[in-house]
Amino acid sequence: MTANPEFDSHLYHTALAQLDNVAAKIGLEHDVHERLRYPRRALVVSIPIRMDDGKTNVFMGYRVHHNTALGPTKGGLRYDLDVNLGEVTALAMLMSWKCALMGLPYGGAKGGVRCNPRALSVQERENLTRRYTAEIILMIGPDLDIPAPDLGTDEQTMAWVMDTYSMTQGKSVPGVVTGKPLIVGGSAGRREATGRGIVYVLYQAAKRLGQEVRGRKVAIQGFGNVGAVAARLLWRDGAVIAGVSDVRSAIWNEQGIDIRALEAHVAETGGLAGFPGTEPMTNSELLEQPCDILIPAAVGSQIHGDNAARIRAGIVVEGANGPTTPEADHLLRERGVTVIPDILANAGGVVVSYFEWVQGLQYYFWRETEIVARLQEVMTRAFNRVWAIASKEGVDLRTAALMEGIRRVSEAHRIRGLYP
Ligand code: NAD
Repeated sequence: MTANPEFDSHLYHTALAQLDNVAAKIGLEHDVHERLRYPRRALVVSIPIRMDDGKTNVFMGYRVHHNTALGPTKGGLRYDLDVNLGEVTALAMLMSWKCALMGLPYGGAKGGVRCNPRALSVQERENLTRRYTAEIILMIGPDLDIPAPDLGTDEQTMAWVMDTYSMTQGKSVPGVVTGKPLIVGGSAGRREATGRGIVYVLYQAAKRLGQEVRGRKVAIQGFGNVGAVAARLLWRDGAVIAGVSDVRSAIWNEQGIDIRALEAHVAETGGLAGFPGTEPMTNSELLEQPCDILIPAAVGSQIHGDNAARIRAGIVVEGANGPTTPEADHLLRERGVTVIPDILANAGGVVVSYFEWVQGLQYYFWRETEIVARLQEVMTRAFNRVWAIASKEGVDLRTAALMEGIRRVSEAHRIRGLYP
């Protein structure tokens, strides 16, 4: 079967290859398999905005719903220079498997705007977000498609999306996005959810492998929402955070970095560079440093055929979406590296987004301790399920996670049938 040229991208080909491989393993029937290879709908929009200098710039934006068999769609909104229709489509497909794997009543979606968010002022980012929301308004809604933060977007972005949507409805509609600020209906624990989920699955994996996390050397690529939270929680638990990076640079200290002090440094200077007591290096050097646990938590395709043989960690926890290429995945597997795949490892965000959505629909908010306990339960259950499938079928954790996610989506398709 060929890929549709509209969605052509490296990541889409990878996502299709994963689907095709799993389809054979779970005996997926041809008709459902064929439907799952395409997004249900995709919208491409141009977003003209007034820049601070008075000129108008036009950006390209996308929103893709991959699958709606299990419920309304859910997926992040990404601001990045690499955003294109193929990448957004692949990420929407991964969201379908992730939501199903975690037992959430959602299909997968993703959105994005091709831009460098760091080169935009706050006013320009607000203009961009509001106009993008207006352009995709027919695609989103609390029972239709619910965006959330992703690379380059944050709580403030979600507040602008919610406000713009609400203005068109003449009332506040908090359930249209998750990852909102607390004051406008956000959930306790949402900001930390993805990083926290990473820590939970890492503990489970370490337990199965007969290892401790305390005292182990950790390298983390990306010091944003996901990477910084994982770093802080692991550091508090006694892991040695030897290296971290952001888009500009990486820093390393064999003895471990004081993450609280580093967060203060980032707040003051805007970046990691120059943090006292650390050695500067490049992002690619960081990935190849000797460490026990590597957490790529920035962008896709960072571990690839050219550097996989030099990755020295024994456990890789995929905080980012698609950080390991299929070729690298194969090389790591051959070398006995345990890779906890993205659709399991970084699912904490969508799980607490689900909690936020439920709380918003009920106008009743839970305590943070309750949210943390429920998140831990959901992450642990999913990890155990994936581990059990991997052991029973003799496959790696990524294949096992995909088998479970794809099986659930296909089961919903089979039961619902094909309209008309
Ligand atoms: P973020 O924008 O808060 O942080 C991204 C970090 O990566 C920043 O430190 C940035 O400087 C760095 N970075 C950006 N481009 C880079 C590059 N080319 N090389 C090296 N570093 C780079 O984003 P985030 O929300 O932390 O998301 C990070 C990853 O995690 C993304 O792949 C995203 O899809 C995935 N993810 C996020 C969530 C969530 O809840 N935020 C949930 C699931 C998955």
